Amino acid sequence: MGRVTQWLYRIAGVALVFGLTAGSTPLPSGSGQAPYVLAETAPHQVVRILLIGPPGAGKSTQAMRLATAYGVPSISTGQLLREAAAAPTAQGSDLKATLDRGDLVADDIVIALLKERLKKPDAANGWVLNGFPRTLMQALALDHLLVDAQQAASLVVALQVPEKVLVDRLVHRLVCPTCGRSYSAESSPPAKPGLCDADGATLVQRPEDGAKSAARRVEDQGRLNEEMKAYYGGRDMYLSVDGSQSVEAIQREIVKALKKRPG
Ligand SMILES: [Zn+2]
Repeated sequence: MGRVTQWLYRIAGVALVFGLTAGSTPLPSGSGQAPYVLAETAPHQVVRILLIGPPGAGKSTQAMRLATAYGVPSISTGQLLREAAAAPTAQGSDLKATLDRGDLVADDIVIALLKERLKKPDAANGWVLNGFPRTLMQALALDHLLVDAQQAASLVVALQVPEKVLVDRLVHRLVCPTCGRSYSAESSPPAKPGLCDADGATLVQRPEDGAKSAARRVEDQGRLNEEMKAYYGGRDMYLSVDGSQSVEAIQREIVKALKKRPG
């Protein structure tokens, strides 16, 4: 047996052993798919997830878990705006003034920031977009952006939680002023009380999470949610999830739906 042939046999042997231990199954020829069974989470799949739902529905927690599971960035427009506002430019200081007043930022600014963010290399295999779009206009603009960027969304996940539960969650919510992570005393407490797991910053309650304004926000969001449902509801990629389940159960449901999606 020649040297080259020996090597080939060896490589084939290693590949076979690796294949068996990795639990691979032969696929029908011509399927064009990678020859391995996808694990509970599928890191090799391109996933682009829109995570929508009212405040307190658990979007941030889920976005973080999905981003980790699939090795893609979790993107929130709130975070993008905070970063842009910190830039030492005229646009940055305009933006900062708007955010400091608590005013809404125009959609075209948000969309432009998002467009730049989705071009970054870490977003090549997908992303989780946390809390966007919130309105019909934003959904339309996002659709245009994604067509231009040739980044079709894999799944729109709408987290549904009863209003009473939402208000209760918001009132008990603490957020990190540095990285935007949110925590809940009952369902997802930080490792050290009052401090962010990621950066150790002191957690705060957002002013808008106070009881009265929380109730109003939840009601407003309920209406917007209906708009989102009307817009995305008829598509294959729309998944309505009961957000009052455990975070693990919610994630399982999303992963299961993603396995059925192309990408
Ligand atoms: Zn933090």
